[in-house]
Amino acid sequence: MKFQGSNVLITGSSKGIGAQIAQTLASYGLKVWINYRSKPELADTLKNDIESKGGKAAVIKFDASVEEEFVAALKVILESDGTLSYLVNNAGITIDKLALRMSVTDFEDVINANLKSCFIGCREALKIMGKQRFGSVVNIASIIGERGNMGQTNYAASKGGMIAMSKSFAYEGAARNIRFNCVTPGFIKSDMTDELKPEIVEGYIKNIPLARFGEASDVAQAVAFLLSEHSSYITGEVLKVNGGLYM
Ligand code: NAP
Repeated sequence: MKFQGSNVLITGSSKGIGAQIAQTLASYGLKVWINYRSKPELADTLKNDIESKGGKAAVIKFDASVEEEFVAALKVILESDGTLSYLVNNAGITIDKLALRMSVTDFEDVINANLKSCFIGCREALKIMGKQRFGSVVNIASIIGERGNMGQTNYAASKGGMIAMSKSFAYEGAARNIRFNCVTPGFIKSDMTDELKPEIVEGYIKNIPLARFGEASDVAQAVAFLLSEHSSYITGEVLKVNGGLYM
């Protein structure tokens, strides 16, 4: 895959989908900045693994929902590399409960981790990439942000918000050659979906036309495409990676 830029920051990338995105983008020759919040050992292992395959990687700790930390991290990246070509807003959490039992704190915590962090990242990307008149941002939303789900009013609001917000950023970034797109994964094998009870998993698989949960690599390749030159005329788009569960 062809990339005009040279480096990428992936939030929440010490494990799961984010870690696979880092592996994939490094394999295409980008220097990847691996962001972790709480587990440095995972981030270091990933960095060593990427480097052992000849890739370029660096580790950076920050909480993506804290503005000062996110902005300071971007400063470190710019001081090191002189540029930020690409950003993937991947950090996310779930706190699932039926709405009747959901506290405002449960709601706010998910909005902050998923939507607020994405806003901060997109806004800062617009500033940095605006100056260089080049950049591409991919936000990892979710099928739940497109169709809602029982027990996930907070998560659905955060991911639906990311989709609408990305389109607004796409309008604001276009004149400066900065693209903003979303990927909406369906059910992907990860720690997040490992928490689901087996009977729930079975129920979901019955409704997935491709009859399986996706792999993190399915998401990572979609992200790579949306960052790359191959999608240079695509902005404000939502690319579903869900096995046909929601068309
Ligand atoms: P995961 O395995 O739980 O990984 C989530 C990552 O995000 C963790 O590394 C976590 O770091 C990090 N993170 C959370 N809050 C953060 C914050 N405030 N600042 C920095 N890092 C933070 O989840 P995943 O399944 O890979 O999910 C990745 C993304 O895909 C999420 O946005 C999720 O909503 C989305 N998604 C996943 C699925 C799925 O089926 N798995 C489907 C649709 C969408 P710590 O461990 O340090 O907290």
